[in-house]
Amino acid sequence: MKPFPRAEISRSALQHNMKRLCEIAPSSQVMAVVKANGYGHGLLNVASCLDTADGFGLARLEEALILRSGGVKAKLLLLEGVFRTEDLYKLVEHDIETVVHHSSQLDMLEKVTLSSPVQVWLKIDSGMHRLGFTPEEFHLMYERLMQCDNVAKPVHLMTHFACADEPNNPMTSAQFEVFSGLTRDLPGHRTLANSAGTLYWKETQADWVRAGIALYGVSPVIGDLGRDHGLLPAMDLVSRLIAVRRHKAGEPVGYGSHWLAKQDTQLGIVAIGYGDGYPRNAPEGTPVWINGRLVPIVGRVSMDMLSVDLGIDASDQVGDEAVLWGSELPVEVVAEHIGTIAYELVTKLTPRVAVCLD
Ligand SMILES: *Cc1c(COP(=O)(O)O)cnc(C)c1O
Repeated sequence: MKPFPRAEISRSALQHNMKRLCEIAPSSQVMAVVKANGYGHGLLNVASCLDTADGFGLARLEEALILRSGGVKAKLLLLEGVFRTEDLYKLVEHDIETVVHHSSQLDMLEKVTLSSPVQVWLKIDSGMHRLGFTPEEFHLMYERLMQCDNVAKPVHLMTHFACADEPNNPMTSAQFEVFSGLTRDLPGHRTLANSAGTLYWKETQADWVRAGIALYGVSPVIGDLGRDHGLLPAMDLVSRLIAVRRHKAGEPVGYGSHWLAKQDTQLGIVAIGYGDGYPRNAPEGTPVWINGRLVPIVGRVSMDMLSVDLGIDASDQVGDEAVLWGSELPVEVVAEHIGTIAYELVTKLTPRVAVCLD
């Protein structure tokens, strides 16, 4: 029997999305961003489906090491770089590339003795003001990298967008101008665009696009869906009904007893809750897909279960499957009900949810 709850990951959807991104960014290489356990889809699952990716982007050295021990040979880039000198030896040993965004990382590179040089992507702060060197610092840092024997040449160049998910926000063009101006005459590869940049700001695609959420079939932009860009959702979050109950008008359900049925109905109890990563703050009315239709959550989400209003005429049975999000119910829609973004929903699933590749 299949485990419940489970995140069913579709190999064909992942592969389709990869192909689609190559069409959307035909002159760029695609770095598949698989940090945070492949956005909750399973790091090695995703990497094994995407053996055509030109490279993988990760946030932590540990994630890159899991890919290398899993036999992944592709280019790997640490998007935040390394935090300790010891990690530099691991980069050389496992052929992992790194971002340098802070002078402390440059200090480490200048002091260490490495058996071969490391490929560095120098990160420019073009306006997000989170990581990276300001335009004023950039030339000095670039010079220091050029002088450093532990750094492979040429140095590659990157920046990250703050507002690319807002198609009318002039910030992205301003950041593009800053980056282009600083890097105009330099050798090396360039990368600027995340998923939103790749989809909405084609002029920023450059040598590499760094696509995360789009790879999983999800739109980064509030108000549109992955399918609007020809992408397919890669995750179905599935559980099942563990109780179906007759419920009278005026009766409450769940902790706090704050929801009261307006009329006689049947309630379904679904075996998933915040202990699985389904948010406790999902309000009444958040949809769940059961037996071919959407039904609303009622009452509070608890640790191990939640309640839905199946309606008086429902014929749903204990054991029937309930889809919390997926191909029939886009995770973007669920996220909007809950007041969060799809990124958070998919990455927050807990280890109690079995991740199953089809
Ligand atoms: C996470 C991340 C990405 C991918 O972002 P998406 O919006 O998921 O496409 C790209 N670049 C960097 C530096 C990141 O940290």
